[in-house]
Amino acid sequence: MRCPFCSFQDTKVIDSRLVAEGDQVRRRRECIECGERFTTFEGAELVMPRVIKSDGSRQPFDDAKMKAGVLRAVEKRPVSVEDVEKSILSIQSHLRAMGEREVSAQVIGELVMDALKKLDQVAFVRFASVYRRFQDVSEFRQEIERLESND
Ligand SMILES: [Zn+2]
Repeated sequence: MRCPFCSFQDTKVIDSRLVAEGDQVRRRRECIECGERFTTFEGAELVMPRVIKSDGSRQPFDDAKMKAGVLRAVEKRPVSVEDVEKSILSIQSHLRAMGEREVSAQVIGELVMDALKKLDQVAFVRFASVYRRFQDVSEFRQEIERLESND
């Protein structure tokens, strides 16, 4: 890590301990060049990326919106709210694990589709038909045929 005082490239760690109940590492560092000491807090950055919409605008990730979309897709289907919530949590942790600061809405849509595919095929097709805005009926039919051939 670069020294904040003299910008020298290398510093040595003189003390290291876990803080914030193990979520962070507090390190005391000393610059090899100028001898100044400073402290860093390091942790996995677990923030949700911002969403890049198709028009290029950026929005904060909206999990309520995602949940509403998934619930709409599973309406009257044999899927429990618990399973929906589990899927959403797994999508969120996947997004965080990607480590990107911004993710396109398309990538998120694909993740939702993958999750729905595992939950319920009908819900998946419902979501996909809205999400992908199938160009025409034949494209929609192709998607269903593709699904059926996967079984
Ligand atoms: Zn220095």
